[in-house]
Amino acid sequence: MSAALELQRQGVDYRLIERLAHPGGHAITTEDSGFRFDRTGHLLHLRNDAMRPRVLEWIGDDYVEVQRRSVIFSHGVYTRYPFQANTFGLPPKIAAECLLGFIQAHHTDHQRPPANFEEFCRMQFGDGISDHH
Ligand SMILES: Cc1cc2nc3c(=O)[nH]c(=O)nc-3n(C[C@H](O)[C@H](O)[C@H](O)COP(=O)(O)OP(=O)(O)OC[C@H]3O[C@@H](n4cnc5c(N)ncnc54)[C@H](O)[C@@H]3O)c2cc1C
Repeated sequence: MSAALELQRQGVDYRLIERLAHPGGHAITTEDSGFRFDRTGHLLHLRNDAMRPRVLEWIGDDYVEVQRRSVIFSHGVYTRYPFQANTFGLPPKIAAECLLGFIQAHHTDHQRPPANFEEFCRMQFGDGISDHH
């Protein structure tokens, strides 16, 4: 749909093919008995300056804007999100395991794609972060 919008903006012909009776995919809100249900997306991350006005134009005035204040509770302390960039306050041994694992993962030549989410985390962030976050 984004590609179609961009083509439309550039005056290029396009055809949008959708197997369901309505567009939107997972990112839809349905209504039932006066209640609205977001199938998936309930948070829109509008850091991209080009997307922001476009998305706000689509959704009108019916939104609440918040600044994310996320923290992660680990080993008795709250540390800032994302964990891989913030090990402040954690016990030094845990922080060291996270950092060294992260560096090791970064320099490892993974021979195959991850088979599941845990493997993805270990390949991407290392064993320390995967075990302690
Ligand atoms: C539980 C959950 C929570 C999420 N929360 C957020 C959130 O808070 N914020 C956020 O930004 N993102 C969130 N996401 C991610 C977001 O929902 C997806 O990134 C987004 O919907 C992907 O869009 P898409 O167009 O790539 O795919 P989809 O939304 O899956 O759309 C694919 C479309 O293609 C159609 N289609 C499939 N096969 C065919 C076919 N053969 N012929 C024709 N049409 C076909 C489908 O019917 C569907 O309409 C969440 C996802 C999940 C699962």
